[in-house]
Amino acid sequence: MAAKLKSKTPTSVVTGAAGFLGSHLTDLLLSRGHKVIGIDNFVTGSVDNIAHLGGNPNFKFIQQDVTEFIFLEGPVDFVWHFASPASPIDYLELPIQTLKVGSLGTHKALGLAKEKNARFLIASTSEIYGDPLIHPQPEEYWGNVNTIGPRGCYDEAKRFAEAMTMAYHREHKVETRIVRIFNTYGPRMRINDGRVVPAFVSQAIKNKSVTVFGKGTQTRSFCYVSDLIEGIYRLMMSDYDMPVNIGNPTEMTMLQFAEQIITATGSKSKIIFKPLPQDDPKQRKPDITKAKKILKWSPVVPLYKGLTDTIAYFRTKV
Ligand code: UDP
Repeated sequence: MAAKLKSKTPTSVVTGAAGFLGSHLTDLLLSRGHKVIGIDNFVTGSVDNIAHLGGNPNFKFIQQDVTEFIFLEGPVDFVWHFASPASPIDYLELPIQTLKVGSLGTHKALGLAKEKNARFLIASTSEIYGDPLIHPQPEEYWGNVNTIGPRGCYDEAKRFAEAMTMAYHREHKVETRIVRIFNTYGPRMRINDGRVVPAFVSQAIKNKSVTVFGKGTQTRSFCYVSDLIEGIYRLMMSDYDMPVNIGNPTEMTMLQFAEQIITATGSKSKIIFKPLPQDDPKQRKPDITKAKKILKWSPVVPLYKGLTDTIAYFRTKV
């Protein structure tokens, strides 16, 4: 069931608006009649992702670190907290910023939602399940996380963010939503962010060796960005306040994925094997029963189609 809107032209605040997901979310909100106030400090976001919005009267941009107090004049209906480094090499390089934006940044964004009587959505992650012992992962699973490992800064920041969100919900009665985002791909990913899609696609386009980590038996399930953003939008507009997984349940090994990308790019690349990073989850696949039932959502973009558009984007960047 959809929750009631306060206004026909609602105002949304998007933190991390210059990032991969934040910028796609901003585009969708503008297309659905929202006014958007985007906030980003460009630590991992890029002005290129929002340059096309220059001059749009419904888009306002504030360059700010969201761990600092957020002061905004006027009404706000929705706060979407997307700011965070999100690729393993980014959060390895920026562990303290990652912890701060997940903790202090979430606190500030929740404070803004409380002040404005706005509905709040936290972009959480499948990483809260850690290296999962239950497969596929339902929302009821509590996870298997190494708190002090190299990924701990991200995983624990997001777990804290979920806990803080629930505390504001229970204590201050803020309307909240928690989305757990699984691996997502599409245009505007940073070519050198280290994630597997930009890594494999850029290597394949350049006919360079495709670097599979470990034996490539670890699995992931990739969701195209437009599917993901639609699911998140539906969650915000629903009246469901418990966590919901959004992702594509089509699971594959990283070796299969490398082969698929080499074929899709028509590349001459060979596969080489590199050491598996510490705590790299062995398997990951969302259980999306809740999203299907509550949001009437499931992904519609097939991998070959999403990859074609993503490869076309990366060809303009390589
Ligand atoms: N990976 C890989 N080669 C690369 C980059 C990543 O084999 O050049 C693997 C990585 O070990 C992981 C999977 O691809 O098992 C997905 O990695 P990514 O960094 O995209 O995100 P994660 O799902 O680990 O957060």
